Amino acid sequence: MQITALETDLLRFPPGKPFADAIHNFGAESGGVVLRLHTDAGITGWAYSSFGMIAGGPSVVQTILEQEIKPLLIGKDPAFPKRLRAELWKATEYQGVAGLGQFAIAAADIAVWDILGKAAGLPVYKILGAYADRVPAYSMCGWYFEGDGDLSQFKRAVAAAFEEGFPAVKIKVGRAPLDDDIRRIEAALAMAGKERRVMVDANQAFNLNEAIRRGRVYQQLGCYWYEEPMPPYDHVAYAELARELDIPIATGENEYTKYAYADLIARHGVDIVQPDNRRSGGVSEWMEIAAIAAGFGLDVASHGGGATNVHMLLAMPNAIYVESGSLKGEPSTLEELHMRDGRILAPELPGMGSELRPDFIRQHKVG
Ligand SMILES: [Mg+2]
Repeated sequence: MQITALETDLLRFPPGKPFADAIHNFGAESGGVVLRLHTDAGITGWAYSSFGMIAGGPSVVQTILEQEIKPLLIGKDPAFPKRLRAELWKATEYQGVAGLGQFAIAAADIAVWDILGKAAGLPVYKILGAYADRVPAYSMCGWYFEGDGDLSQFKRAVAAAFEEGFPAVKIKVGRAPLDDDIRRIEAALAMAGKERRVMVDANQAFNLNEAIRRGRVYQQLGCYWYEEPMPPYDHVAYAELARELDIPIATGENEYTKYAYADLIARHGVDIVQPDNRRSGGVSEWMEIAAIAAGFGLDVASHGGGATNVHMLLAMPNAIYVESGSLKGEPSTLEELHMRDGRILAPELPGMGSELRPDFIRQHKVG
């Protein structure tokens, strides 16, 4: 089999209701890049890279795919994903294998694995080496909302996630003084009761001293994990934080490549490893990161949801959670994900099951 063509679409979404975490404001600019790799076997591999808040990011990734990656992939056999990865890293060395360059490499890798699943007639988790056919889900629902001083919107969002059947919710902290965090955590825990879990995510808001000070309170309150309290690059600070606290430290969504994770993990700076399939480097790299975590006895939970993350988690014995938004409403993909008893069921179509609906692309395509 040979890759014969590479196509991309740039998507742009209209501004929606504003929401925020400790350091990011969402709801204004967002978009994405769709990648399709065609083959001489008549199989097309898909990948979709979405951007929650960067206006120019998708077009940069599109340019890297079209101008740097396309010439390299045409004529190549998609049955060698790790060789292709090595060649893409080498070819894009000048801009580096981090940042938006890695988003593009990751999209190519994901599309290649989609081709391999389709060629085998199997959902990707089965060609990766399946461990489970369902994975526990948690809902990222506890955002900061505008004009929400009484937390009524926050409480509605948490209640809706529990009503939908999620066994755990994640809430944002760290945007305001600790008293405000406590108010949010207590409200969520009151709704969770004893059976369900609440995770907190501070999105890099703190320095080490503040991360320790607030972390002691979060663990005392009974939060399940404490996510990305400090800038991700400071692995020494993460190691110190993890030593100081008993609550599991979750981080990784802003790390690029297995080398960054290997350093963080070797320093014991993380308990729950959270690779993002765009930044970490696609399926090939993500699976190796999860394996490094397994070798250190650490759990893995995806940053982000959707079919690609579900497939990879289903192939790892140390996977504990897939992150998710609500599964209600019309999906953007042809194959829908379903949750039963708080677990997301394995996608069963051959490939990745993440092909976007044609009408969704038509509606949001730029140009
Ligand atoms: Mg996070």
